[in-house]
Amino acid sequence: MARIHSLITAHGDFETPLFFPVNDFGDHGHGSGPKYITEIPDLRSMLVNVHLLRQSGMVDQLSLRGLHDFFGVNGVFMVDSGGFQAHTDLPRLKHNEILHFQEAIGADIAIPLDTPVFPVDSIAGQQHMVSMQVTIRNALWALENREREEMLVYAPLHGNSSQVMVNMLDYLQRKGDFDGFAIGGLVPKRSDLFAMVDLIVAVRRRLKEKPLHVLGIGGPALIPLLVYLGVDTFDSSSYIRAGANRVYFLPDHGSVSLLDLDLADRLPCVCPVCSVYAAETIRAERRLIGLHNLWMIAYELRKLKLHIRQHDLETYLDHRFARNPVMQDVFRYAKSKMRGLV
Ligand SMILES: [Zn+2]
Repeated sequence: MARIHSLITAHGDFETPLFFPVNDFGDHGHGSGPKYITEIPDLRSMLVNVHLLRQSGMVDQLSLRGLHDFFGVNGVFMVDSGGFQAHTDLPRLKHNEILHFQEAIGADIAIPLDTPVFPVDSIAGQQHMVSMQVTIRNALWALENREREEMLVYAPLHGNSSQVMVNMLDYLQRKGDFDGFAIGGLVPKRSDLFAMVDLIVAVRRRLKEKPLHVLGIGGPALIPLLVYLGVDTFDSSSYIRAGANRVYFLPDHGSVSLLDLDLADRLPCVCPVCSVYAAETIRAERRLIGLHNLWMIAYELRKLKLHIRQHDLETYLDHRFARNPVMQDVFRYAKSKMRGLV
């Protein structure tokens, strides 16, 4: 199911699989991570969260200038409602106010306001059902009421079982012609990667050609698995946390802590960061580590696309996960799932 696809937006076409770094809107709106979007040609993409944006106090400026002008790039901006993080002192926005805001700041892809279900919510429980009904209602409302036709609307999918999520997807597909779908609520389920594989495979099969995004999951070990499962786009803020914790993604070999590493003059990488700066300089500057880490994600995506085109993705991933017993098990399960064996 892994595929190379074209994401057609108001600001150009973007080749998928594509990673969306999350902007946390620290440092006057530019985020506490590096300013990658004008540096890395493969990552002219950003996920913006309405909730984080409002907390940053950048609302007026962003509404006035729009995301593309503010960041100075003709990239693709996905704007999530931030339903998952809506515990805040700010007054809650209603679903119509969120849509209006997404349009005002020039979102290329909007995810309507969702009410997540949590792993503790039983699928037979009242809370689970109400959350899903509200999410469905908001998604259909956004699709019918967007004023900018060129803004893509991705319906959020939730549910604590594959069957529930597929039922939600079937209903949404019957009622509206969505531009894509976004699986939410997986962050708390990350500890059960087998269940995550089940959910994604069930949804991908049902979607046929429509774009599929997975919200909040996109570390270096999981990106190859998501791509294998046919996910087109994904987002994560892990590159910021990794930079702050001095975690350095090694080319082809997982990650290491720069605090523990006995440093030579240069780090073992030829990205534009590591080619120019000495190892000690990089270790001291979290933004440089973050920028290098994003270059490594871009590098991984290029390799994945090469192997999709060469039709030898499974062989590549067998090798890629060989040193990681957890991922090796999950990948074995994913392969069986693809072949209909489990
Ligand atoms: Zn590097």
